[in-house]
Amino acid sequence: MKKPVVDQDTCTGCGLCPDIAPGTFELNDDGVAAVINPQGDDEDTIQEAIDSCPVEAISWEE
Ligand code: SF4
Repeated sequence: MKKPVVDQDTCTGCGLCPDIAPGTFELNDDGVAAVINPQGDDEDTIQEAIDSCPVEAISWEE
């Protein structure tokens, strides 16, 4: 099963991914995105969040 992962060194904390896929991502206390549930949204929604990230900080891990 593939899981989304966030490169927190690259994330700028723009907030887009938790807006698009709130079941999967949230901004943590450091103001960067974290995965709260790798299956929190359907795959198309997670893919949309990945594609929308302005710094390409999210990727799939097999
Ligand atoms: S969309 Fe990208 S830069 Fe924005 S919060 Fe999510 S991982 Fe970070």
